[in-house]
Amino acid sequence: MLKSHRCGELRKEHVGQTVTLAGWVDRRRDHGSLIFIDLRDREGIVQVAFNPEISKSCHKVASRMRSEFVVRVSGEVTRRPPGTENPKLLTGEVEVIARDAEILNTSKTPPFYINEDVEVEENLRLKYRYLDLRRAGMQENIMLRHQTVKFIRDFLDADGFIEIETPILIKSTPEGARDYLVPSRVHAGKFYALPQSPQQLKQLLMVAGMEKYYQIARCFRDEDTRADRQPEFTQLDLEMSFVEDEDILALLERLFIALVTTIKPDRKINQPFTRFSYADVMERFGTDKPDLRFGLELKDLSDIAAQSNFDIFTSVITGGGKVKGIRAPGCATYSRKQLDDLNQLARSCGAGGLITIALGESSGGSLDELTAEMVHSVAAKFLTLEQIKEIAGRLEAATGDLLLLVAGNAETVNISLGALRLEIGQQLHLADPNTLAFAYIRNFPLLRKNTETGGWEPEHHPFTKPRDEDESLLDTAPEKVRSQHYDMICNGFEIGGGSLRIYTAELQRRVFRLLGYTDEEIEARFGHMLEAFEYGAPPHGGIALGIDRIVMLLAGRETIREVIAFPKTQSAIDLTFNAPAPVTEEQLAELHILLREEE
Ligand code: ASP
Repeated sequence: MLKSHRCGELRKEHVGQTVTLAGWVDRRRDHGSLIFIDLRDREGIVQVAFNPEISKSCHKVASRMRSEFVVRVSGEVTRRPPGTENPKLLTGEVEVIARDAEILNTSKTPPFYINEDVEVEENLRLKYRYLDLRRAGMQENIMLRHQTVKFIRDFLDADGFIEIETPILIKSTPEGARDYLVPSRVHAGKFYALPQSPQQLKQLLMVAGMEKYYQIARCFRDEDTRADRQPEFTQLDLEMSFVEDEDILALLERLFIALVTTIKPDRKINQPFTRFSYADVMERFGTDKPDLRFGLELKDLSDIAAQSNFDIFTSVITGGGKVKGIRAPGCATYSRKQLDDLNQLARSCGAGGLITIALGESSGGSLDELTAEMVHSVAAKFLTLEQIKEIAGRLEAATGDLLLLVAGNAETVNISLGALRLEIGQQLHLADPNTLAFAYIRNFPLLRKNTETGGWEPEHHPFTKPRDEDESLLDTAPEKVRSQHYDMICNGFEIGGGSLRIYTAELQRRVFRLLGYTDEEIEARFGHMLEAFEYGAPPHGGIALGIDRIVMLLAGRETIREVIAFPKTQSAIDLTFNAPAPVTEEQLAELHILLREEE
């Protein structure tokens, strides 16, 4: 190698040794006679001193060095003179006195600072990603990603899983998004589809007797721009034969607890993972991926509201709707503008409006102290003080709190209060950034109604097994059928999902028919699966987890782009390569493609 040591590894134990280092000039300080270089490589930074009295030629080379030049230096490790140590650097007690130096390559002035953790416009970072990746924060993120994936591989290997690669050029496998298509040159007019997930392949591997499969798999979904999605992303994809859902959930729970406690031991992680049914989590948090790092659960107030003289409440309840609420701790003093914003948020989720009840200015007092004068609310004149106290009591409120109430149909009430809960949590910084709060959600509905076509579509994908006891409802009340799907959530994100699968051709065909496929369509699109199920398919199930999201949460970052080496922008553009890009006429002709003018 061109170097004997890594910059970041030098300590006082190395004093007296002659070392050769190679890396980038992080900073240069010219003190006239003495020149100091902070030399950086992947492992860290060390100070190199160039003294003309020790080597004139070396000092001359150093005078030509600039930021981001690639250099190689040899010299002796010495203790820094007392008072000049740098406690911020791990190598801060030593420096290297250069005796030999060479510039291996020069560098233009980079478009942004590499040696400072300053905010840089993201598109500029993405265009020069190879420079952005030199920055300390990104080096950490990419390293963390490597450690995470390696940990997962080692863990699953020890558990008897084998990693199997599956093809990227394949036929569409549905996960609810649009496919990326690849035209075939050899077979004119035919297309491969990039996999939205290896779903069918991993199921076929179970039919193939592999029993425990996993893969760090790339998936491709052509979705319209949605916050923090990437056209291609990485999943830990996994499938097991002869299991019940508990086996899969317990395995993943063990994996994640081991992962977090090994890789990020300073993070708090809840053990065991909380488990909710879909119905329960919607009722209590208004979303199927709640941030569980804080409380403020939704509470049903319909019985109290029904007793009031408040028309808005009573009419909703007579119409079969609900009144529910949450507390916003210490927010009774919110301004008109703040209340308006919360009202807007509720409306944007479909609620007719938001009723707020402010419980006086002094915070944290017992509800016994509450008087009618302390209460501020449009609803105050329609509710008795007793009713307000009862509502406040159910929401576990204290004086100084603001109560947020929504009336309407159950779904809208849950969704809007779920959004308000999240908003209040953010405004009050209730979620501890050092905690990872995991949970599993189960018993999702199998199907949902497509509001445009009126037909049924799968809530997840068509291979999900209905709960055994609900199978008989498939023909009579499909909306009531619950599935054997489960999601894993963490800190308000869905980080993965999976299910037990259908493994008989008969049930699979029944579900396809229910989804509105004709027998010909079933044959053309999924005939290979149905046929495979007729050759002794074992009961099986699995899960897929978003590696990008997991690393993002471990790194404490806000977007998955921060933990992907070369991500695309929100509008699916790769700024480093400028892709997608036009291709030549010849290429199009070979692929039998004629471009159409867009109207
Ligand atoms: N294939 C599913 C997905 O990508 C996960 C699974 O069911 O294992 O979401």
